[in-house]
Amino acid sequence: MEVNQGRGIGAAGGNDRLPAVREIDQLIENWEGLAVLTTFDEPTLTWIFICIHDNTLGPSTGGTRIATYPNPADGLRDAMRLSEGMTHKWAAVNLGFGGAKAVLAVPHPMVGDQRRALLARYAGLINLLGGNFLTGEDMGITPEDMEFLSRHTDHLHGYDVDGRKVDPSPYTARGVLTGIKTALEQKFGEASVRGRTVVVQGAGNVGGQLIRMLAAEGAKVLIADVDEERARSLASECNAGLIEDRSGASGGNGSDVFSTECDVFAPCAVGAILNRETIPRLACPIVAGSANNQLEEPEDVERLRERGILYAPDYIVNAGGAISFAYLGKGISEPSELFAKVDSIGTTLAEIFREAEDRDESTLAAAERRVARTLESARG
Ligand code: NAD
Repeated sequence: MEVNQGRGIGAAGGNDRLPAVREIDQLIENWEGLAVLTTFDEPTLTWIFICIHDNTLGPSTGGTRIATYPNPADGLRDAMRLSEGMTHKWAAVNLGFGGAKAVLAVPHPMVGDQRRALLARYAGLINLLGGNFLTGEDMGITPEDMEFLSRHTDHLHGYDVDGRKVDPSPYTARGVLTGIKTALEQKFGEASVRGRTVVVQGAGNVGGQLIRMLAAEGAKVLIADVDEERARSLASECNAGLIEDRSGASGGNGSDVFSTECDVFAPCAVGAILNRETIPRLACPIVAGSANNQLEEPEDVERLRERGILYAPDYIVNAGGAISFAYLGKGISEPSELFAKVDSIGTTLAEIFREAEDRDESTLAAAERRVARTLESARG
């Protein structure tokens, strides 16, 4: 279903917009998801895409991203891909939510009244969906944006019993830590991180907390972040090492983030970092991190398998924030209880590793079969 609201198509730019609009139409025509609600916000020249991928298990839920794209179709493509990922993530944890994602494809960074007016109109669209779409933060959304949105719509998730917005990243980090331990147990028969070397790429909201947790449990942590100041400050706080040559551009000295020898490589920055170029250089037996869409293409999981590298599927290992939000919605706000719920990622991952081993297939294939099983049995 495509719901076009307003005078979006052709309203600004006339015929110049037609190729982009055709591309948007084509994407929608070929999409397997449930519905795309799209509108062109004329005052800000922003394309808004709400992609509802699936609602088999419950209301379609996923974050809202604000970003600038080369053309609006790229924004829609991003929203579609991310909403499908949310269906997988929610089905893997099976806590009563379906997959969705929204993208506000802004033509340039937007601030002040213009930004607030856009968000207010976006909230109107969310309300139109009457609770069938629930959203929260994603890239480009600030805590102030969330606060503003909460004044215009009730259909947000991630709030505690007192109505305070909860930061998902400590829960995501805890899930990654649990995933790392499960992978260590699978590979070495011993779950402890003590004495293990872990390379963390990206020391932001999730990576930063993961680094602190790992250091507190006695792991040797090596940090790589394009923000050198952030990496340096965390390294000194946690007595961790730094990987200075992040790009490997200085040529084959073995010190870049991919070829650094370690027990676990934890990607916690950007996607598509596991690919035909980086996988041959990895010097680790395990990859487990929070970054979304770590594989550049589906074949990359086989490339990892051929090298004997155990891959913890990203949407399984980074589901801690989603799990905590699901339980917040059920009225549980106590962090210790939420952390305990997040630890279920360990059991899920162990089952996936076992199934992959039994069937001699990749961990991703086992995770996907788990997702398909859950959705099929719910569809009954
Ligand atoms: P963030 O923006 O707070 O942190 C990302 C960090 O990575 C920053 O410090 C940035 O400087 C660094 N970085 C960017 N590009 C890099 C590169 N090429 N090499 C090294 N460092 C680089 O983001 P975050 O909230 O910590 O999320 C990290 C990843 O985890 C993202 O892929 C996000 O989609 C995913 N994720 C986050 C959550 C969550 O709860 N925040 C949940 C699920 C998945």
